[in-house]
Amino acid sequence: MKHLAEYRNPDTAKKLTEHIAALVTRPWTLMEICGGQTHSIMKYGLDRLLPEQVELIHGPGCPVCVTPLECIDKAIAIAQRPEAILCSFGDMLRVPGSERDLLAVKAAGGDVRTVYSPLDAVKTARDHPRRQVVFFAVGFETTAPAAAMAAFQAKREGLANFSLLVSHVRVPPAMEALLGAPNNRVQGFLAAGHVCTVMGYTEYEPLARRYKIPIVVTGFEPVDILSGIHRCLKQLEEGRHEVENEYRRSVRREGNQPAQALLAQVFRVIDRPWRGLGVIPASGLGLSPEYADFDAENRFEVGGVSAPEPAECRSGLVLQGALKPDRCPAFGTRCTPEHPLGATMVSSEGACAAYYRYRHAAHA
Ligand code: SF4
Repeated sequence: MKHLAEYRNPDTAKKLTEHIAALVTRPWTLMEICGGQTHSIMKYGLDRLLPEQVELIHGPGCPVCVTPLECIDKAIAIAQRPEAILCSFGDMLRVPGSERDLLAVKAAGGDVRTVYSPLDAVKTARDHPRRQVVFFAVGFETTAPAAAMAAFQAKREGLANFSLLVSHVRVPPAMEALLGAPNNRVQGFLAAGHVCTVMGYTEYEPLARRYKIPIVVTGFEPVDILSGIHRCLKQLEEGRHEVENEYRRSVRREGNQPAQALLAQVFRVIDRPWRGLGVIPASGLGLSPEYADFDAENRFEVGGVSAPEPAECRSGLVLQGALKPDRCPAFGTRCTPEHPLGATMVSSEGACAAYYRYRHAAHA
């Protein structure tokens, strides 16, 4: 936290916005991938400090938001089993499934517990040997190493009553899916710094070359984000398309190799469905054959559960950057954080929640 003031310094932010204004000669559209960055942009009004030609659109970088409805339904089906203790991060409890959410299951007597770490779920399994403890493992490369560590620990201890309901996803294949879509508007990416802290940024280099698009690894504070935008726009104006690292205090090109080795041991790369984006090839992590015994889908036979996305919620378009949250007809009326219709309003990292918190609620 020593440097926090430095990355929130208003004078530095002002200079960066002046550099950006002096640089831009034509319209550009940039996408920030991470929901944490979206919230910083809204909280500090960074989008309003940019020249009119620069549009920021928000990507599918909220882990709760991209977890498909069918996976929520699987978690709910498991949580309703009397022998099960379902452990989850708090935000997941409020995401609507097809008929109810996990909080409603808990209110009806289901044993649903909020944990702050997957290792808390392992401890719960240790403490309750007669129950089946399931950790609902969602999120990007950022949270996956902790889930991998939980599986590793449970295997080492021989905990036969612990399993994982896995819905982990990988960011680079989602970026490629967006770039390859016919309605793509993204001309430059701000890549999520914490994902790159784990994975490095070598995976982004072929993307930048293939789609001729600048990708700048960016942190989460206002100065980080404005610096990332500046570097991205500089590349665009100069006709370059490279991967640059604007988050050097945390990210190295090769990433955290011990974490990557653990991921490779516990998980394997698979195709996964994303809310609003459909099935993206090689975009997910599933348990490796060595850890197949820890797969809750098999243990509770919920692999066949499927569910169509609800018609009214347009989270899918929001997650593709194709719809600004406040353009959704339900925004702030039928859909609010107290009564959310979709995941992007539920999650503390969701784009709809960011617009509601920093734009709508502030002016209501
Ligand atoms: S405002 Fe609500 S209904 Fe509309 S896209 Fe966002 S979460 Fe869905």
